[in-house]
Amino acid sequence: AHSGEVGVFVRIRPTANFAQDLIQCLPDGQVTQPLDTRKSHVSSWSFQLEGVLRDVSQEEFYTRVCRWVVLGALDGYNGTVMCFGQTGAGKTYTMTGSTESYKQRGIIPRALQEVFQEVEIRTEHAFNVYLSYLEIYNETLVDLLSSLQGSPRPSPHGMLVMEEPGRGVFVRGLSLHPVHSEEEALNLLFEGEMNRIIGSHALNRNSSRSHCIFTVHIEARSRTLTNAKYVTSKLNLVDLAGSERLGKTGSEGQMLKEAVYINRSLSFLEQAILALGDHRREHVPFRQSKLTHALKDSLGGNCNTVLVANICGEAAQIEETLSTLRFAGRMKCVRTDPVVNEHTDP
Ligand code: ADP
Repeated sequence: AHSGEVGVFVRIRPTANFAQDLIQCLPDGQVTQPLDTRKSHVSSWSFQLEGVLRDVSQEEFYTRVCRWVVLGALDGYNGTVMCFGQTGAGKTYTMTGSTESYKQRGIIPRALQEVFQEVEIRTEHAFNVYLSYLEIYNETLVDLLSSLQGSPRPSPHGMLVMEEPGRGVFVRGLSLHPVHSEEEALNLLFEGEMNRIIGSHALNRNSSRSHCIFTVHIEARSRTLTNAKYVTSKLNLVDLAGSERLGKTGSEGQMLKEAVYINRSLSFLEQAILALGDHRREHVPFRQSKLTHALKDSLGGNCNTVLVANICGEAAQIEETLSTLRFAGRMKCVRTDPVVNEHTDP
């Protein structure tokens, strides 16, 4: 992808019964309804995306889709990679990967490895790296790293999504943890994942029903130049809640409440994206939900952004797949405006 354009990729979860008669992937990144079934359908569909990845390893996926965003963050550009799709389509596999095998590590551990490799290589700069891990569940902000020893006390005002000129969007009260090595960073990631699971069990809810934003905050100062300029960036790695439309049938109580919140926050996300893609629209409704507000910079702001649309190529899931592809198609119309975040010491 190029700066200023959201990179939209489709990743298809491997399946023994891929619906070839319903979905066709062309090498140029087009996903379409195969020709011979078009006759028997009222409407045909086709989405032109930056790439469709099927049967690619975690390593190849990272290299092709995410690496440039991570390297950009080390240069002072904000970056966001987010996974969207129905539950079971492979979002967590893509973002975090399998904990069982090293080869199946996902984007977050690979990004952390790359960040610390670059910190070693780029000796002309001194880097400070901090991590935060935010979960958004039913419009409530949860700090997945707040229970750690030595972390700052929770803000007396609770957590709040805020914006400041020169700083962009940030979450007041969310704990930031300095990390000095890949290992230290992976331990925090693991800690956050455990807290997510423990929290969801304690409250008897399903963890795929929340949005998670893992953020690597990077600060780089020149070791050689004496002027007091330095650059900062945020790398957001986002695992969105399952996009399936629940709540229409059968759900009640807690399940229904979750479904309503997710449907609402994801449809606010779609509304924001639609407004961004429509250049006649001046007002984009970012503040309608915590998710869109927290992702404001990533959607049309100061950020290199990649969307991964995770789909499952089975016939039974075609409706959800089409809805995911439609979302991906809209995201392609969004433009961002990444700039190096340069600051001067007072
Ligand atoms: P989601 O987070 O979207 O609900 P998961 O990431 O949990 O979905 O994936 C569902 C299952 O499919 C998991 O067991 C996961 O390991 C497996 N899976 C998903 N994508 C892939 C892939 N590209 N290769 C191998 N296994 C995958």
